[in-house]
Amino acid sequence: MNDCIFCRIVRGEIPADVVARTDDAVAFRDLNPQAPVHVLVVPTRHLAAARDAAGDDGALLLGRTLQLATRVAGELGLDANGYRLVTNTGAEAGQSVFHLHVHLLGGRPMGWPPG
Ligand code: 5GP
Ligand code: ZN
Repeated sequence: MNDCIFCRIVRGEIPADVVARTDDAVAFRDLNPQAPVHVLVVPTRHLAAARDAAGDDGALLLGRTLQLATRVAGELGLDANGYRLVTNTGAEAGQSVFHLHVHLLGGRPMGWPPG
């Protein structure tokens, strides 16, 4: 998608602090971090949200995106104390960028339930 912020980051048209990249997904630091570690992991293919990941293609895309998130968590030292993976879907959940992304949050204790 031409005007999608995250597609533009994937293509390198907008600067981002990229921490890891595979053929399938890109991980970069959130512009407005909510925890000491706050990384967004996005599939390179544009899908608006997790509910759009249909069929085997969608399963592979979700799996590979989550795998990159857990890999980055380990590389950033979060395995010992733990971390949270979140994907907001739709307006009521607080989704503000409509390109599927997983938030990787860590480096501080997390409350439950989330706000
Ligand atoms: P959502 O609210 O859709 O779950 O999360 C979108 C996230 O994207 C927010 O945490 C916001 O700070 C982040 N974000 C929005 N625009 C940009 C950008 O241009 N660059 C980066 N690195 N993060 C962004
Ligand atoms: Zn996009």
